[in-house]
Amino acid sequence: MTDVMPRIVRLAGIVDESVVDGPGVRLVVFAQGCPHRCPGCHNPHTWDFDGGAGVGINQILLRAEANPILSGVTLSGGEPFAQAPGFARLAQEARLRGLSVVTYTGYTWEQLVDSPAPGVHDLLLATDILIDGPFVQALADPGLAYRGSRNQRMIRVQDHVAATPAHSLNSRFSPSSCLMCVASCVTSSVPR
Ligand code: SF4
Repeated sequence: MTDVMPRIVRLAGIVDESVVDGPGVRLVVFAQGCPHRCPGCHNPHTWDFDGGAGVGINQILLRAEANPILSGVTLSGGEPFAQAPGFARLAQEARLRGLSVVTYTGYTWEQLVDSPAPGVHDLLLATDILIDGPFVQALADPGLAYRGSRNQRMIRVQDHVAATPAHSLNSRFSPSSCLMCVASCVTSSVPR
């Protein structure tokens, strides 16, 4: 973690306990601002990048620490990767406290792996489970665990990192190697 990472993220809101946004009981942080504008989105109020309010990352962590039954933190939106440096700091700090991190994104894994934008790879590397891809109304399925539409995948990011020795928390993803092994890192079941 570097000191240049932001200490504030812009949020639409926080839900202190959820059992539908990843395994176990989770504190859910909704990023404010989303460029994807998926038809049928359940959270259109999160699209405006000027909406919501800035919230201190330490304040979010204190709320998480205050709840002994939490399994982890879920980063939802809005689009967390639109504020990747700030959410990377939040995810790293949450993991240091023993909390797992589930991150939702409207981008695909492949787009994020290829992205040169600051903080994107840091946030990927601090994520346990990535739920990727936009919501596609034609593929909507209310029976899916933790996902809205069938195009979205649950990717165990840490399994992928562990299986690729060249990767570490201080190194960048290699797009070619990530794209070759992503299939083995995609799962339809997640640990509690
Ligand atoms: S990525 Fe998520 S928040 Fe953004 S428009 Fe699509 S469904 Fe809505």
